[in-house]
Amino acid sequence: MTPDVDIPQEIEIRGDRFVPFIEVQRIQERTTEIAERINRDMDGETPIFICVLNGAFMFFADLVRQITIDCEVDFLKLSSYGEKKISSGNVQLVKDLNCEVEGRNIVIVEDIVDTGFSIDFMKKWIGKKNPASLKIVTLLHKPSSTKISHTLDYVGFEIPTKFVVGYGLDYAQKARNLPAIYILDGNHDTEQ
Ligand code: 5GP
Ligand code: MG
Repeated sequence: MTPDVDIPQEIEIRGDRFVPFIEVQRIQERTTEIAERINRDMDGETPIFICVLNGAFMFFADLVRQITIDCEVDFLKLSSYGEKKISSGNVQLVKDLNCEVEGRNIVIVEDIVDTGFSIDFMKKWIGKKNPASLKIVTLLHKPSSTKISHTLDYVGFEIPTKFVVGYGLDYAQKARNLPAIYILDGNHDTEQ
C-alpha cells in the first residue's frame, strides 16, 4: 500500500519519538468494513452508539457516518490514564450517558482496549441500566496487555503492547489531531 506522504514521518512529545504505524487509508478501509458488518448484524434494530470520550471521538465520527441503519448517538467520558502511558486501573466516570438505556441495543465505541479495566467498568455500569443488548467496538486492541477479558464484538486492529497516539488518541492531551496512528519508536514496551 502507498504510504501516507502528507503526514509527518516522525513526531516528538515530551522527549518521546513516535513514528507512523497505521496509515490513514488502512484505518478508513477497516472502519468501512466494521460499519458494513454492523449494518448487516443490527439490521432492523435502532442501536445507540456510545462514544467513549475523549479518545474515540475521531473513530466514532468516521464509523457512525457509515452506519445506514436507524441509530442514535450518546457520549460517555472516562478517565484513567492521567498524563502517564500506563493505565492506572482506577477508572472514573467523568460524564455519564444522557440517554435511556433500558431495553435498548447499546454499542460501546472505544479507541483502544488495553488492560480491559475501562470496558469492565462500562459493561457493569451500562449493564445495570438493563440494555436489551450490549456490544463493543474497538479500533485497537492490545491482547497481551489484557488483565480483564471481555468479548470484543468488532476489533479494528490487534497491536503489540506499545503506546500509540494519533487519530483521537493522546499523550498528555497532545496528538489527538493526527490523522494516522503513531507508535512509540524503539524496542521498549509501554513504560511510565
Ligand atoms: P484500559 O482500561 O483497557 O487499560 O484502557 C482503556 C483506555 O486507555 C483507552 O480507551 C485509551 O483511552 C487509553 N489507552 C490505552 N492504551 C493506550 C495507548 O497506547 N495510547 C493512548 N493514547 N491511550 C491508550
Ligand atoms: Mg478510550
